Amino acid sequence: MRTKEILKKTRSGDVLSKEEIIYLLGLMPDSPEAYMVMAEANRLSKELSEGKAEVRAQFAINLAPCSCNCLFCSFATVNGVFAKETELTPEQAVAYARQFEIDGANAVFMMSTAQYPFARFVEVAEEVRKNLKPETILIANVGDLTLKNAIRLKDAGFSGVYHALRLREGTDTDLSAEKRKQSISNFVEAGLKVGTCVEPVGPEHTNGELAEMIEFTASFNPSYSGAARRIPIPGTAIAKRGVISELRMAQIVAVTRLGMPRSVIGNCTHEPCTLGAIAGANLFWAEVGANPRDIEEKTEEGRGETVKSCQSIFHESNWDVWDGPSRYYNNR
Ligand code: SF4
Repeated sequence: MRTKEILKKTRSGDVLSKEEIIYLLGLMPDSPEAYMVMAEANRLSKELSEGKAEVRAQFAINLAPCSCNCLFCSFATVNGVFAKETELTPEQAVAYARQFEIDGANAVFMMSTAQYPFARFVEVAEEVRKNLKPETILIANVGDLTLKNAIRLKDAGFSGVYHALRLREGTDTDLSAEKRKQSISNFVEAGLKVGTCVEPVGPEHTNGELAEMIEFTASFNPSYSGAARRIPIPGTAIAKRGVISELRMAQIVAVTRLGMPRSVIGNCTHEPCTLGAIAGANLFWAEVGANPRDIEEKTEEGRGETVKSCQSIFHESNWDVWDGPSRYYNNR
C-alpha cells in the first residue's frame, strides 16, 4: 500500500516530496490510512519533543479595525465587526504577561494588529520584558517589518516571532505575499526564531495549495510549523465558504508534521483540540484580549482557551506537558 511506503520513508528521516504530501492529504480523513498517518505523526512528534507538548499564551496589546482586510480576520475593516480602537496600558500588558508566567505558559506572545505603531509596540514590550523572569521566552506577533525594525524587536528582548504567509495571501488579503516572505527573511536575518503555520485552511483549498504551503514553511526551518483551520466570523462573506472538520484539520496537522525536517520540533494547531493532539500537534495556544477569530473584545469571554485548558486537552490526548521555557526555539 502506498501510504505504508511513504510512512516508511518518513520513519527513516527522509523528507517527503510534494507529490507524496499531496497523496497523504488526498486520503479520506476517516480512512484507516489517514489514521495511520496521524499515528505516525503523533509518534514522530513525541520522539522529537520527548513526549512533552507545550502551551504558548498570547495577549493582544490593541484592538482596532485593520485596513489590511484579511477576509478571515475579525479586525478587518471590511468585516465591520469592531468599530472602535482600544489599547492596553503598559501596566495591563505587564499584568497579562506575568499571569501567563504564573499559569505555566512555555512562552509568552505579544500581539498587535498590523498597523499598530511599531515604536509604541517596542516601548510596551520593553516594559513587559523588564517585568518577566529572564528565562521567560517572549515572542512577537506583528505585521510585516523591515530588517531594521526586526533588529529592534530582537534588541527589545524578543526571542522570536510568529509570522505566516497565509493561504491565498494577496487574494483573500490586501497584503503582498512577497512582502510576507521578505519579512520572514528579515526576522531570520535579525536572529529571531520564526514560528509559522499553514493557515487559515478552508474547504476551498486544494491539496496542491496545502502541499505548496507545507513546503514553503519547511523551506526556512521554522521553530514550529503546523496547521489551523479557518474559523468563520459570523456575518462575513468568507464564512459562506464553510469550515473544515476537526478531523480533516487533524489530518493536515499530521501531514504537515511529516512534511517538515526533523530539525523542526514544534507542530502547532489552532484551535486546541484532542484530535489535533493525537494527530501530532505538540503546541497549543491560550489567548486573552483581542483575537482575530473572535467577535468578543476579550476572547477570554469567548473562544479563547486558558493555559490550564490547553494543558488539560493535551493530558486527555495522552501527552505530558513541558514545565519550563520552550525548547522548540533551539533548532538553529
Ligand atoms: S490578520 Fe492582521 S493584517 Fe490581516 S486584517 Fe487582521 S490584524 Fe490586519
